[in-house]
Amino acid sequence: MNPSSLYLILGDQLNRQHKWFAQIDAGRTFLFIESREEATYARHHIQKILGFFAAMRAFASELEQEGHHVKYLKLSDPDNKSSIAGTIKSLIQHHHYKEFHYQLPDEYRLDEALASLKTEVGIPVTAADTEHYLTLRSDFATFFKGRKTYIMESFYRQMRKKHDILMVNGEPEGGKWNYDQSNRAAWSKDFRPAEPLLFSNDLSGIARELESAGISGIGTVDPENYMWPINRSEALALLTHFLQHHLREFGTYQDVMDHRNGLLNHSRISFALNTKMLSPLEVCEKTLRYWREHQEEIDIAQVEGFIRQIIGWREYMRGVYWKHMPEYASLNFFGHQEKLPGWFWTGHTRMYCLNQSIQNSLDHAYAHHIQRLMVTGNFALLAGIAPDEIDAWYLGIYIDAIEWVEITNTRGMSQFADGGLVGTKPYVSSANYIDKMSNYCGSCFYNKKLKTGDKACPFNSLYWHFYARHRDKLEKNPRIGFVYRTLDTMAPDKKVALMEQAEKYLGQLEEL
Ligand code: FAD
Ligand code: SF4
Repeated sequence: MNPSSLYLILGDQLNRQHKWFAQIDAGRTFLFIESREEATYARHHIQKILGFFAAMRAFASELEQEGHHVKYLKLSDPDNKSSIAGTIKSLIQHHHYKEFHYQLPDEYRLDEALASLKTEVGIPVTAADTEHYLTLRSDFATFFKGRKTYIMESFYRQMRKKHDILMVNGEPEGGKWNYDQSNRAAWSKDFRPAEPLLFSNDLSGIARELESAGISGIGTVDPENYMWPINRSEALALLTHFLQHHLREFGTYQDVMDHRNGLLNHSRISFALNTKMLSPLEVCEKTLRYWREHQEEIDIAQVEGFIRQIIGWREYMRGVYWKHMPEYASLNFFGHQEKLPGWFWTGHTRMYCLNQSIQNSLDHAYAHHIQRLMVTGNFALLAGIAPDEIDAWYLGIYIDAIEWVEITNTRGMSQFADGGLVGTKPYVSSANYIDKMSNYCGSCFYNKKLKTGDKACPFNSLYWHFYARHRDKLEKNPRIGFVYRTLDTMAPDKKVALMEQAEKYLGQLEEL
């Protein structure tokens, strides 16, 4: 029998446990499209494009081996019409499918494009859930109904209760909901993270295809030794490695940065999670199981800290995205308009913390949370970079960057461009914080202690300039009052010198 139903699987919908695959159905064709539009709509890291295509191919080939019928369109396939929606329309027109099915996309742009097919293709179109998240798109809005601001912690507690995670008789396990106080230690020279698990996949064939299709990416790659997981068994191996080697100090050193190692104790499962090779619930279940078997070696603070990121922050960001798109993509609370300095694309800056964080991103398509938030994001906010520019950078450079989780973290958490929907105050700091949490400042051209002069660390004056120029927007924030009290008690000549120093730096961002 000729398959009469077309089932689309997007590059970030590689969920093996989805009910679509529970049994072989000869009437179904599973469609994969290596879309030129998706590979080029942002300046993506080359490792990101390779990773998505390789994972799609691995997934398609597993389905085929199981007996499912698969249609896989490579870039060069004549049926591949560049955009996803365009390709589907053309296939339906030429191959006489009787039904079209898709899973709800995680990106607003694709959601709109696929929804519009319902009125354009002349056959029944059905959207299914991805069966990946712990929440529905609409749950967040229901949870925070009638409230102007959201509190992640209350959402997170609700998730713990609903899914019975780290709960005992309705109370939080260990007596506390949140162990952040015992986590997030400062950098220490004794900190020695375990070796990371890096895969060695040979993706040189795909790299050649990209080259001949004229698709290039930013950053570097060794296509014969590709380090990211590209199938479910590698994704599971990465999770197991994290549990065995990194979990025991995950929370303690969660916010540390170190020039000897850019990967630290982080799990690096975000790509596997965001492409749905791993499910958030199974990550939590495996983490809890491992912890219960090793409770004498691993304290609850590490485990709670990790689980909070997954069932708390990750689901919360998704909720914010669906509640506030498409307006969210144009929010600019501070009215920032500066261009992103060119060195964000090369790492060539004398600020060592930025050099390291950007180099790490170019080398691995990865930086951990604090490099993203308190180095690149911190600098961009202090320097008044336009949120559109900074969003485009984050969306391109990270392997895990898909708009729903990138934009809420970048525009929201990092740039406060949403005026405080995601975070309660802007994440900015002077050199003090970066110095406490890293070993960067000792190798820097600038002096972390100086506020003025040619060698003054730019963060020190830009920090005060940021608060001074946005006084009207921030002064009433109860979490920030102390900053203005300090600013107001500063000697006037010191204040003038600080502002002049900041303005000098703001006028020469490219040269920093
Ligand atoms: P770990 O530190 O090991 O944490 C485990 C998991 O928790 C992560 O894999 C991730 O799925 C989840 N998680 C942790 N923090 C967050 C968070 N704030 N929001 C959502 N999930 C979280 N994450 C992305 O997945 N894609 C992005 O495009 C992205 N862009 C970011 C941009 C900025 C400016 C900032 C500050 C953060 C961004 N994050 C993004 C969140 C976070 O930095 C990454 O999820 C994390 O660094 C991924 O590395 P990991 O898997 O080693 O995480
Ligand atoms: Fe970064 Fe300033 Fe420290 Fe240099 S001195 S590494 S610019 S915080």
